[in-house]
Amino acid sequence: MPTVNIRDKVFEPYLTAAAIQEQVHRIAAAINHDYAGKRPLFISILNGSFIFAADLFKAVTIDAEICFIKLASYKGTKSTGQVITAIGLDTDIHQRHVIILEDIVDTGKTLHEFLPQLHHQQPASLELAVLLHKPSATQFPIGIKYLGFSIPDKFVLGYGLDFDGLGRNIPEIYRLKEE
Ligand code: 5GP
Ligand code: MG
Ligand code: MG
Repeated sequence: MPTVNIRDKVFEPYLTAAAIQEQVHRIAAAINHDYAGKRPLFISILNGSFIFAADLFKAVTIDAEICFIKLASYKGTKSTGQVITAIGLDTDIHQRHVIILEDIVDTGKTLHEFLPQLHHQQPASLELAVLLHKPSATQFPIGIKYLGFSIPDKFVLGYGLDFDGLGRNIPEIYRLKEE
């Protein structure tokens, strides 16, 4: 895989489509096992998680539901530190087994601010399934039950993740090349 140029930046190949699918299927198998008979409700956080959510949901073979919310805190390659709910939750989660689907946990601020709102509605359980985690960037620790990859603190794109709106349709994950 050659490098890709998006706007003014150069990105290099990082995680192959096959490596991503392997982790997505491993997470789905764990959820199929852990939630059998519980009809979990997935909440996919838009925009970034839509491809991860689609692939994971297709690999889930137990009865399950999915809905979507939209949170935003990023602009360009830096977090703005402001979490905005652009589309809210339209589904009752009281007494439900909820699994949040997130593309990446960076500082952890987005989920740190959002999770208490969900706990307030008293779900039966609440867990996180996250494709990518940057442990060295995380300032608000949150327990991730199902994790795809632990990665260094470098900006990544592809597989749903964007750089200023572009790159979401790349099937692999690329990372910002050092200057
Ligand atoms: P946090 O609140 O944990 O700092 O960041 C959460 C959101 O910021 C993620 O859901 C994602 O949308 C965005 N984000 C964080 N790191 C990256 C990154 O390396 N690449 C891209 N494209 N988005 C990121
Ligand atoms: Mg996200
Ligand atoms: Mg983004």
